[in-house]
Amino acid sequence: MALCARENSVSISGECFCGDVSYSINGPLRDARSCHCSRCRKAFSAQASAYALVSPEDFEWITGEELLTLYQNSYGFGLQFCNKCGSTLCGVFNGAVHGITLGCVNGDPEVEIGRHIYVGSKAKWEIIPDGVPQYDEAAPGDP
Ligand SMILES: [Zn+2]
Ligand SMILES: [Zn+2]
Repeated sequence: MALCARENSVSISGECFCGDVSYSINGPLRDARSCHCSRCRKAFSAQASAYALVSPEDFEWITGEELLTLYQNSYGFGLQFCNKCGSTLCGVFNGAVHGITLGCVNGDPEVEIGRHIYVGSKAKWEIIPDGVPQYDEAAPGDP
C-alpha cells in the first residue's frame, strides 16, 4: 500500500467573504474540531467553531494582510478577522498563526471534523449529527 501514500505536499488556500484577504498553507491541517461552548458561538458567529491546527511555518498570507485586525484575550490567544467584511480567518497564539477557521477554506482541505467538544453547553437550538465523537467538555488529551 506504500505506493498509494499521498505525497506530503498538500496546498490549501482560503479567503474571507469579501475576498480581499487570502492565504495559502503548504502542509496538512491537523486536529479539526468543533467547539460548542458559548464563547466559541460568539467568536465564530455560528452554532460552534470549525477549526483546525496548522504549522506556522506552513502558513502564508497572500493578499490583504494589512486588512487584518487581531482580537486577543489575556491568555495570548486571539482571532484575526478581515476588518472590511468581518470574516474570522485564523487563530493566533503568542503572535504566531495557530489554526484556521474551516469556513474560510476554499475547496476540500482534506480533513473532517474529528470531534465535537463542549457539547454540554451547546445552544438549545442546535442538533449535532450522530457519527462523530462528542464530549461534554474538552476531549481527553486536549490542551
Ligand atoms: Zn474580507
Ligand atoms: Zn469553545
